[in-house]
Amino acid sequence: FIIPEWRPFMDHIREIYDDCKQINDGKPAAYIPQLARVDPNYWGVSVCTIDGQRFSLGDTTIPFSLQSIVKPLAYALVLNDLTPEVVHNYVGQEPSGKSFNELTLDYQHKPHNPMINAGAIVVSSLLKKELNIADRFDYTMEQMKRLTGGEHLAFNNSVYLSERATADRNFALGYYMRENKCFPEGVDLHEVLEFYFQLCSIEVTAESGSVIAATLANGGICPMTGEKVLSADAVRNTLSLMHSCGMYDYSGQFAFKVGLPAKSGVAGGVMLVVPNVMGIFLWSPPLDKWGNSCKGVQFCQHLVAKFNFHNYDNL
Ligand code: GLU
Repeated sequence: FIIPEWRPFMDHIREIYDDCKQINDGKPAAYIPQLARVDPNYWGVSVCTIDGQRFSLGDTTIPFSLQSIVKPLAYALVLNDLTPEVVHNYVGQEPSGKSFNELTLDYQHKPHNPMINAGAIVVSSLLKKELNIADRFDYTMEQMKRLTGGEHLAFNNSVYLSERATADRNFALGYYMRENKCFPEGVDLHEVLEFYFQLCSIEVTAESGSVIAATLANGGICPMTGEKVLSADAVRNTLSLMHSCGMYDYSGQFAFKVGLPAKSGVAGGVMLVVPNVMGIFLWSPPLDKWGNSCKGVQFCQHLVAKFNFHNYDNL
């Protein structure tokens, strides 16, 4: 087993879980009623190792939308089909140093990276772009299902409708990027934006999400099914950008303090990857001022205080 002392390991995780449960900071996202209405006390932690050891605590079977956590997954799926050279003609690799939905492009008039809205919208325009939009959605759901090893994956239509109804900024980003010729030839802007909102509205549970994280930790092979879903190169590139850009404007501090690739979303999820060891999915809706789950970030920091998972531990 990758973690030989499984029982003591679980005890430590439970301790960290209980410590973080005491945190009462932050507020759930309120820009759409579907997120504002959620019980702020939900707190779930799921672990899945690369050899399929599982452990869950708390609210790990309740679905919530991926929101921004879909960004690295969409990027990885695009990299499965297109070379990084082609993909990065459209989107950069640099932390933006600005808010996730900032109306801004880099010095080459490209979105800074795939983890901010502008970059994720362009990545959405590249995802199986030769297919019609219904088939693109089906394809994405099928691949995401493979990433979860067949565990919970759903689409939340009311989240989607709310996202679309309140998306002034994302529409503005779309028009701004079209003006700057950011999209591939022949793209239907409205269709792409709707596709992006649909991707944000895909739901997982902490449990099924931990399998996705473990698939990334395992170089693209789902530990529960043994299926190869993503190429090793696609995963390497995805984890690199999660490491530098995955936690909004806290990404630099997170890379310093935790030293692991992670991605958070406004629904309160945090997908944490310990490469070659395990995936951890955390879910607690109240967010800090950067938009990261308060309990989720604390959990990650406690985890590396306890175990030497930081990228630069053990030197
Ligand atoms: N649907 C949100 C948006 O596009 C996602 C935000 C997020 O999770 O960061 O604005």
